[in-house]
Formats: sequence, structure tokens, C-alpha cells
Amino acid sequence: MAVFGAVGLLAGFVACTDPPRRNPPQTGDSGNGGSGGTSGRGGSAGKGGTGSTGKGGKGGSSGSGSGGKSTTSGGSSGSSNSGGTTGGSATAGDAGDAGDAGDAGTGGAAGDGGEGNVSGDAGQGGSSSGEGGDSGEGNSAGTSGSSSGTSGSGGGGGAGPVGGGKSSLPAPPTTGVVKPAGTPGGFSVINWAGFQGAVSFTFDDNTQSQITNYAALNGVGVPLTFYLVCSTYGSNAIWAQALLDGHELGNHTMHHCAANGTNCAWGNAFVSTDAELDECTDALKSTYGLDAIYTVAAPYGDGGWGVPASTRFLSNRSVSDGNVSPNGATNPFSLPCSIPPENATAVGHYNGIINTVRTGHLWHIFLNHAFANDGYNPVSITEMVAAMTYARDLTDVWVDTVTHVTAYWRAQKLLTGVTPVVSGDDRTWSWTLPAHFPPGQYLRVKVDGGTLKQGATVLEWDDHGYYEVALDYGSVTLSP
Ligand SMILES: [Zn+2]
Repeated sequence: MAVFGAVGLLAGFVACTDPPRRNPPQTGDSGNGGSGGTSGRGGSAGKGGTGSTGKGGKGGSSGSGSGGKSTTSGGSSGSSNSGGTTGGSATAGDAGDAGDAGDAGTGGAAGDGGEGNVSGDAGQGGSSSGEGGDSGEGNSAGTSGSSSGTSGSGGGGGAGPVGGGKSSLPAPPTTGVVKPAGTPGGFSVINWAGFQGAVSFTFDDNTQSQITNYAALNGVGVPLTFYLVCSTYGSNAIWAQALLDGHELGNHTMHHCAANGTNCAWGNAFVSTDAELDECTDALKSTYGLDAIYTVAAPYGDGGWGVPASTRFLSNRSVSDGNVSPNGATNPFSLPCSIPPENATAVGHYNGIINTVRTGHLWHIFLNHAFANDGYNPVSITEMVAAMTYARDLTDVWVDTVTHVTAYWRAQKLLTGVTPVVSGDDRTWSWTLPAHFPPGQYLRVKVDGGTLKQGATVLEWDDHGYYEVALDYGSVTLSP
């Protein structure tokens, strides 16, 4: 049983994964097919061994928490081994699949010793704050000599980290919601992680006044997104600190040009849109030790950046005015936002938009540049902090990075469009996350009644009013 570590609101969003550890197949004596191991979420169970006299192994059960993505391939591979010769030696089992990278959490337990020879691959370590998964057990030769001899250990399941149904999403203020006990059904994703609406505060162009006022911005305690022009950010330590504080660093290209290469604000070195994006991503990754950059902000909001952004990122922020609706048709590579007028105030500008978001159940992105005369439409840091504090203190508005909100919004659309597969009394929703989707993300869902599972792991009801579904797992099943 793995214990999930506490993950705060500002937990870093950056994934880090440990490489899988592979245990090679070994040959042992005859035996039954191996049981797949217990695996953490993301870990795939080892396949059953192919003991010559054995019967099929079974797929591993999932670990605690979000549970392993236990494959049943062990069973199928093992079941082909009926009628083995007595005492014969077993052939090596297939290697288990490597687990997917998991989210925060501790590693799942290693696989149970199965019968027959199997080797499971270890799952990958968790991203975010979790510990890496334990590796699956390798094979040990079993004793044999009879038609049902016990044999080698089954492959350990890929022991990915365990999510345990706990995301790093902030909790909405409502508590004490009773677990629904009605008829199984009514599966739906709740909007904006259970909040009334969502707001992202973004800051472009890495101006000196952002750096000067970083402590005040960070002091509000909500995750922010900074879009850096990579040719100008230098090595200012403030951006490394921003990452440590749980904020997002996004791509604002190398030289801040229009998509046709004109109007470069920082050097006339434009080669192509692709180069502008990729060089900036590479710079951010190497400078800050990041595995990926998930979102971009188009310089000038130029629509020409949308297509190249779509092959590289989770989203692209434009500068068109507007809001995003749950399950709405907004192009994720042309997200709307608003730029405050110069010297905008919290009461005169920001708070009203935040109120609209809250009552309309929308997502709004604020685009800010400067708190002094070193960027477009500066506002005072006092008013900026006041606006951010207003949003925070409403408590029922979700304030988070563009990556986190985009991931939730896109995944909600994805799952909402899935038709479940019915098998007996079970209904299973399966999905494949889009390219450039960050690991370790969750959706909050509700049902009228029944039991939700991911693998063998029963999802726990959260009395804020939802179950948390680990998106990396790829499916969820509702049973009576
Ligand atoms: Zn800009």
C-alpha cells in the first residue's frame, strides 16, 4: 500500500520520471502462468508466464491509489499453455509492459510472485511529487516436476506511482457533500474542477517591472503563468524561483515577431515560426531543467502562430477578447484573453470580469505586461495584487496556470465526447490524451450512484462533491 504524499496547491507542475527497470525474461521450471504484479497507477502488470504445464496467469491487480493499469495479457498468454508436460521446463514469460509515467504518489507494490516465469517491467517513476514506483519483481525459477508445480515468480507489475485519487488541484469550498447512492449512471465531468469559474493571470515579455515586483505577485499565493521572450530573459534568477514557487514558464518565442517575421521586438533574427518556437522551448528546457513546455503565447496575438503552435503545445494564447466555456468550441490554439487598459484598477476592470466568470461558469485569461513604464499598458502593482487577491478570496473561483486549466478543459471535452462501452453491468469510458498533454492531470466527475474504478482501484468519493479520475490511466469504469 503506497502512501500518497501531500501535494499542495503550488506543487510544481513539472514532470520528472525515472526510467523503467527491466527484468529480462528467464526460463524456469514448469508452472502456472504468472500472476501479474500489483502495480501502481500507470504500471502495467506483467504478463503471465508460459509455464509448460501451467495454466494461464492473471493480470496484475492494481495498486492502491489510482491503481495499476493492469493488463490481462498475463491471463491470455498463460491460458495458451494448457496441457504442458509434467516436469517440463517452462519457457520464459513475456516481458510485462512498462508502466506509464504516473502522477504524484508513491510507487505501487511490486508484483506478487506468480507462477511460471514472467518478467515484468517496472513502471516509471512518478512525476511531480511522487516517489518512483517500485520495480516489478523479476523471475525466480520455481520448483516443479509436477503438472502443477509451483514455479517462478510472476512478473512484477509495472509499479508505477500511485495516484490514489488525489490530484494537486485546489479544493473548492463546498464540503460535506454526501456520496451519491442512487442508480449507477449519470457520469459527468464537473466544470472547472468544481469551482464556479476559472481565471488565469498571465504576464508577458519578462519585463523588468515583473522581476522587480515578483515578490508581490508571488505573495498572493496563486499559480501564475509567465510567458518569456527567450532572447531577452537572460539568466535572471527570478524565473527559476518562479518555477520553485509553482508558477508556469511558457513560450513567447525567441524574438517576439509577427508570424510573417516582421516587427521583431527583440532582435531581427527571425528564421521561421518553427525556429522561433522550438529555440525558445529548448532554451527554457535547458535553462530550467524542464521536460516540456506546454503552452505558448503568440506574439501580438498574431493568428499565424496558431498552426505551428498546434503541433508543439497544449494551447496557444491569442489576444482576442473573450472567455472559454466548458465543452465550448474555442480553439485551444487561439485562446482568448483580455489586456487591461493602462492604469486599470481592480475595482474598475479586473473584478468585474472575475465576477462575470464566476456567475457565467467561464474561464478568463488576463494578459498583463508591466507595472512600470517598461511594457505595454502598465498597471500599478497595487491594483494587480488587489485583483489577484479578489479572485483568490472569492474561494469559489479557480485561479491556476494556463497549462492546468487548459488540461482540465480539454480533457473534459474529450471525456464528455466518449461513448462508454457496456459489458454486463459495467460501463467503461476510455480515452487517449492529445499530444503534448502534461502528465499527472485529473478530472473531477460525479455519478448518480455506483462504484467507479480505474483498474482494480475503487475511486474514493471526495466530500467536496466528486471523484477524481487520473487521466494518465486512460479509462474509468462504472459498476453497480
Ligand atoms: Zn508579448
